[in-house]
Amino acid sequence: MRGRLHCPICGREYDKPIQRCSCGEPVEFELFEGEPYIAKTAWERFYDFWPIEPELELSLGEGDTPLVRSRLGKELGVKLYLKNETVNPTWSFKDRGTFLAVSYALKAGYKAVGTVSTGNMGASVSAYASRFGLKAKILVSENAGDEKVKAISVYGGDVIRVKGDYGKLYFESLKLGEKLGVYFINSDNPFRVEGYKGIAFEIAEELSPDYVLIPTSSGGLFRGIAKGFIELKENELIEELPTLIAVQAEGCSPICRAFKEGKEKIERFKKPETIAKAIANPYPPSGNAVLKLLREFGWKCVAVSDEEITEAQRKLAGEGLFVQPASATGIAAVKKLIESGVISEGSKVVSILTGSGLKTLPHAEGGEVRECSLENLESCLR
Ligand SMILES: *Cc1c(COP(=O)(O)O)cnc(C)c1O
Repeated sequence: MRGRLHCPICGREYDKPIQRCSCGEPVEFELFEGEPYIAKTAWERFYDFWPIEPELELSLGEGDTPLVRSRLGKELGVKLYLKNETVNPTWSFKDRGTFLAVSYALKAGYKAVGTVSTGNMGASVSAYASRFGLKAKILVSENAGDEKVKAISVYGGDVIRVKGDYGKLYFESLKLGEKLGVYFINSDNPFRVEGYKGIAFEIAEELSPDYVLIPTSSGGLFRGIAKGFIELKENELIEELPTLIAVQAEGCSPICRAFKEGKEKIERFKKPETIAKAIANPYPPSGNAVLKLLREFGWKCVAVSDEEITEAQRKLAGEGLFVQPASATGIAAVKKLIESGVISEGSKVVSILTGSGLKTLPHAEGGEVRECSLENLESCLR
């Protein structure tokens, strides 16, 4: 333990990490000796890489997420790291892109921003709109679950359930937004994609990975991370590009399918069916752009089953990281890729944990819970 604990009431000091002072009051750490190191945010460290000046005073602390060494790597024979995006202000990486895009909307004089999303992006845009003092127009699908809609409306945005073809909404919203002065920050909005570059920058500050696994739906995240690494390479800040791997759910894998079949354009995936709802876009707006990157750089696309996803989710929870199914796909894919010899032993592998499991709590597999009376507590604890 570094430094000491003291009691704010009686002033006693302790060298061991006790829970409470002998006088009954709480204890707290004293600042350890030496110059504290105050790091700047990634927005500042990579200042020249953003297309606009971020509104730093309105940041909610998005980005600068932990890169955690995973115990699962040992079992798999690789050096495995987890980029934990679940700790962002609204519990997914979407906040990085939303912050930059809303910064732009504010500078450009918009009074309202919007998005098309039933999940993480809806919550993120709703939260940042409130933070920036802008109105939010969040378009959700007719059959979006009540608890998901609540997680969006809690920030005070205007949530609209739209009856009709949800797939067409992406393009309709851009058109109407332009007419009505609402800046729509959809899944692959260019500022959003720029914001995602920060994930690549932060990883590169800590290590040079051989592989990076990216859960992929619309393709915005994949493009952002790819762009980040490419810009680092162009500026000679890294020597080599990692191999990026787009990961999709088998039940909705339009990009992997087109890649495998050697097609240049993606086709709509009929009847998408997967527990990984956050990556179940049947007609990804950046699908063709991702395909082009995969081909150009010799990167890969992998699809994993719902069973594999559930197993990976359980394993991650087993080391203290509760992610939503979409975010466990990377870990499910690592196993597959090692078994098929694509990822070789001893490689440095990073998987992006895109969003928190609390978002999909009603569908999560819980562990055992026991009952115990207070009188029997001692025996229950043994
Ligand atoms: C949005 C999202 C993704 C996929 O990102 P795209 O930019 O749509 O490809 C993956 N995981 C989670 C949890 C998400 O919310």
